[in-house]
Amino acid sequence: MIRKTIVLFFIVLLFFEHSLYALGSLPPRKYIPVKVRVINDAEDVLIRIKGLYKIADFGNGNILSEGKDLQGLSVSPGYIKGEGIKLLPELGARVYVNNRQFRGDIDIVKDKNNRLFIVNHVDLEQYLYGVLYHEISHNWPVEVLKAQAIAARTYAFYQKLVSKNKYYDLTADVYSQVYGGRTSEKWRTTRAVDLTRGLVLTYEDKIFPAYFHATCGGSTTDALTLWNIDIAALRARICDFCSISPHYTWQKELTIDNVQSMLKKADYDISIVSFEIMKRDNSGRIVDFLIKGKDKDIRLSGNKFRLIVGPNLIKSANFEIDKKGKYVTFTGKGWGHGVGMCQWGAFNMASQGWKAEDILKYYYPGSEIIRIE
Ligand SMILES: [Zn+2]
Repeated sequence: MIRKTIVLFFIVLLFFEHSLYALGSLPPRKYIPVKVRVINDAEDVLIRIKGLYKIADFGNGNILSEGKDLQGLSVSPGYIKGEGIKLLPELGARVYVNNRQFRGDIDIVKDKNNRLFIVNHVDLEQYLYGVLYHEISHNWPVEVLKAQAIAARTYAFYQKLVSKNKYYDLTADVYSQVYGGRTSEKWRTTRAVDLTRGLVLTYEDKIFPAYFHATCGGSTTDALTLWNIDIAALRARICDFCSISPHYTWQKELTIDNVQSMLKKADYDISIVSFEIMKRDNSGRIVDFLIKGKDKDIRLSGNKFRLIVGPNLIKSANFEIDKKGKYVTFTGKGWGHGVGMCQWGAFNMASQGWKAEDILKYYYPGSEIIRIE
């Protein structure tokens, strides 16, 4: 009986969440295009379009062909006469690149090595639909999803404003924000985007890169230390909220050979003798890391070291190091660069009843929320 009641409660809750969403139809709004590089350095790509479409020359925009329902066209650099082509689906048509569906138009462009990169032209809000699922669990409370939508929108809009690249504003990987197109959309994350439509963070009336990361491990860090960005909204904050995170502490054992080969790939050729932590910032992250070698020494920031060895192996720059013979053990706290919003902390705050706006003001102190449309 109790189980039945609980199931019924969740069905009612789900229906209520759905119907709330369905009730408020969204007013018309401005289209803010962003250009996202979704594939890089490809030998070829497989294109499929369901519905009406045009294919245009990338350089002069001349229409090269048009039609309906393109079945599995493999595009290689040899197929393209000029610099590239543009796929222009008509309203309602569906475009697939390597079997992943994207909203908006697609550029297929040749790079200087005669390989292909693919750029998706998409509306900022629809871009966020395809980002949130990758950046956060879509099962988390709505207030943390909303906070994430606002932070991700701010980050993307900032990148659009500062991008100097002719072809794209953002990449779709971990170096920007992970974006999977329409294939990655889930209704709860899409709803969080809609509920915060057009909202971005500003500091002293300026958009700033609202960085975020998985788990800070006790304290976030200054963007000043990491990237020389000096604004109050990106300064270190104490955060105990993420102590529930599975990444709050971590340990990784690697062989010295493994570390050496990763360093060598990044042009640091060294025969490692020992490691020495020279300096940490106030949050505990290593800012000066000395690797002593047989012939020479290397000095790196903890963050650079972790990016070289592997950001998923050395999860943060806040670690202790223990070398024994051929092995080295890293014991650390947190996952990610540590700047801005701590996602697991934000999750715990939302679970305790914090609103998205308060979560954001905690992690980006002094920031304001404005609407960009
Ligand atoms: Zn935290």
